Amino acid sequence: MKGIVTLPPKGGVWLKELAETPKGEVKLRTLKTGICGTDKEIVAGKLAFARPEFAQELVIGHEALATVEDPGENTGFREGDLVVPMVRRGGQCKMCRLGRQDYCEDGDFVEAGIRGKDGFMREEFQDSPKYLVKVDDRDIMDLAVLTEPLKNVMKMLEIFNFQNSKLPLYCDDSTLNCKNLYVFGTGTEGLLISSAFRRTGVNVIAVNRHPLDETVLSFLEVNGIEYLDTSKESLEQKAGKNRMDYAIDAVGSMDVLREITKNIGNNGQIILFGTSGQKEATSEEFITPLVDKNVMLSGSTDGAKKHYEQAIQFIENYGRKYGLGKLITGLYRPEDLKIFNTKEEGEIKKVIDWT
Ligand SMILES: [Zn+2]
Repeated sequence: MKGIVTLPPKGGVWLKELAETPKGEVKLRTLKTGICGTDKEIVAGKLAFARPEFAQELVIGHEALATVEDPGENTGFREGDLVVPMVRRGGQCKMCRLGRQDYCEDGDFVEAGIRGKDGFMREEFQDSPKYLVKVDDRDIMDLAVLTEPLKNVMKMLEIFNFQNSKLPLYCDDSTLNCKNLYVFGTGTEGLLISSAFRRTGVNVIAVNRHPLDETVLSFLEVNGIEYLDTSKESLEQKAGKNRMDYAIDAVGSMDVLREITKNIGNNGQIILFGTSGQKEATSEEFITPLVDKNVMLSGSTDGAKKHYEQAIQFIENYGRKYGLGKLITGLYRPEDLKIFNTKEEGEIKKVIDWT
């Protein structure tokens, strides 16, 4: 059985013959695996917390779609079922035991393909039914590999709805139609955030500092999302006309955070998703505006099983209509290892086809 491995935390990437896969209750064959920034960082040796499950090598890959080859006994799965495996596997803290390992209290978890557990970039693997989420609608087979990045967005929606339920901050007609959400970043995650939040009724403005290519522009258009190119119009100008009620950052740079805190409106809501290894800003630049404006600020990472289920539901309901397939800009073979170190023209989401 072939698999794609790295040597964390130093990095590198190899396709090699793997030893026997560890035993699990359900035997799976990998169909597709998506590549994201995290995979590229691990391969480049830039993700310090990447660590192997066994000896030294880590099988990478945490965005996957697989098919059940052998369901085992009383697992609730059948041969041929389509499933998305979960990334994070909980430890012993209360939140993990409640199935909310996305809110783990002590960091005692592993993440497939990232830290402490082999991932899904291999021809087959075995897993516990507890960590497998079924895809019932075979018509979304080509899109279901987006479930993992989309589950992060479902978690953000949970936070958004929770915060909005605390205060009556909706519009006079009880909708969100008068509100503006600025989404920073137009990669896969930024575009999925824009698409999913637009469905709540909020007006979405996707922000980036350079012109976008045709694929992204047509995705934004079909989703009814506005686009702000800050190399042409400043964020101040735009936020002056269209109040920044909400902001979600999928970039993770201090520059973007500074721009958000400067322009967010009173009672604004910020959700931070993107991270990068940049140094901290001073509290005057960063913390004071957030306090003064009563901003509800949430960090957000990962999601629970229900968010995977919601992501699959979202793809079933909207995937076709709102062109989620446009986000998959390249299908590759497992041998094409150079894709981990390169960025193609117009690249959004690269996917490895294991079939
Ligand atoms: Zn925990």
